[in-house]
Amino acid sequence: MKQRIENMDLKDKRVIVRCDYNIPIQNGIILDDTKIVESLETIRYLIKNNCKIILLSHLGKVRTEQDKYYHSLEPVAKRLKELVGREVYFNKEVMDPSLPERIQMMLPRDILLLENTRFLDVPNKLESNNNIQLAAFFASLADVFVMDAFASAHREHASTVGITKFLPSCIGFSVERELASLERFLKNPEHPFTVIMGGAKVEDKLKLIETLLPKCDHLLLAGGLANSFLKTLNFNIGSSLATESEYTMEKLKQIMLNYREKLMLPLDAVVGSTYDESYARYKKINEIGDNDVILDIGVKTLEKYKTAIAASKTIFLNGTMGFYEDIRFSNGTKELFNILKNQNAIVVVGGGDSVGAVKRLGYQNEFTYLSCGGGATLEYLTKGSLVGIESIMEAKQIEVLDD
Ligand code: ADP
Ligand code: MG
Repeated sequence: MKQRIENMDLKDKRVIVRCDYNIPIQNGIILDDTKIVESLETIRYLIKNNCKIILLSHLGKVRTEQDKYYHSLEPVAKRLKELVGREVYFNKEVMDPSLPERIQMMLPRDILLLENTRFLDVPNKLESNNNIQLAAFFASLADVFVMDAFASAHREHASTVGITKFLPSCIGFSVERELASLERFLKNPEHPFTVIMGGAKVEDKLKLIETLLPKCDHLLLAGGLANSFLKTLNFNIGSSLATESEYTMEKLKQIMLNYREKLMLPLDAVVGSTYDESYARYKKINEIGDNDVILDIGVKTLEKYKTAIAASKTIFLNGTMGFYEDIRFSNGTKELFNILKNQNAIVVVGGGDSVGAVKRLGYQNEFTYLSCGGGATLEYLTKGSLVGIESIMEAKQIEVLDD
């Protein structure tokens, strides 16, 4: 790919990088710095090339003036400084008229992080609505743009897509890694290829299910997704989370007709109750009562899924098996992780909550690849492209060295 960072002439240039520093921060304390660590390869490469380095990122959603208080990127500058071993300057304002002069004064290899780009969403959503003046302002600060925020690459924002209209652009190392890892298993998965999908709303996952079904050998279902399939099959699922839409159920019917032999549904469940918070009980799937709420898969389902997984060479997991946030309903997800951990296969986990569950339950070092792109990962797997990557391909490429 010619828009790789290594194909750009970056020597002594001013380079603006869109990073993904959308990380959990509480009272100024960073709870997980993985994404900062992932940005280091690109930053070190720019240091090696004697660049002036300007970093952009969003953090959370900023809708009001008060939101700004909890969404400053200042703690990131401090942590980045420790990791990279050089000063990281911080600019408290994003669209600051004095920035060009400040950057002029920077020395080669200096690093400057700007405040949360979404501060400019109050009041006019300049960042999120891809305001052209803001994009032009970002571009005016540098000679080259590097897109290194995979998790934001499905967003058409000023700091992701807008800026590419004005500058020679390329992707950074962390985006390249992410694309290569997802493509490796999506384009040419070694068979048997098993997809395991759980999570909450089937509507969010329908397109992904339709994309993956022709490619995979098995699709194992759990969570709210499985509930919706069971409901379509006229099982009593009590008060469980499931689709209410006739249209969706019609779709699920078609899917089940077309892919009957690939699909697997739960045999049993751990249920809660609508009237008793402390209730948690094991039930077979044909024993669910009107007040029951299916919140996890049971042991029989795990046994059946284990058999399907046993021969698999490639496995993709998205969505948790149950309401894993509550320890009484996290066993299905945890036991599934144990099965996957012991399987000699490429195991890729994608999706915000899914990767969150992997980390929370202590399995972050057990799988081949954790795709931390959240919604961007799922969109990339579904559509095969992302607006923020496409725009790099279309950006003016006067700096490209080779073909
Ligand atoms: P991702 O963000 O990785 O795409 P999802 O958001 O689809 O994953 O899935 C995780 C969420 O699904 C969790 O919040 C979990 O509590 C919820 N969930 C899983 N199973 C159930 C269930 N049976 N009923 C209600 N919520 C569920
Ligand atoms: Mg989610």
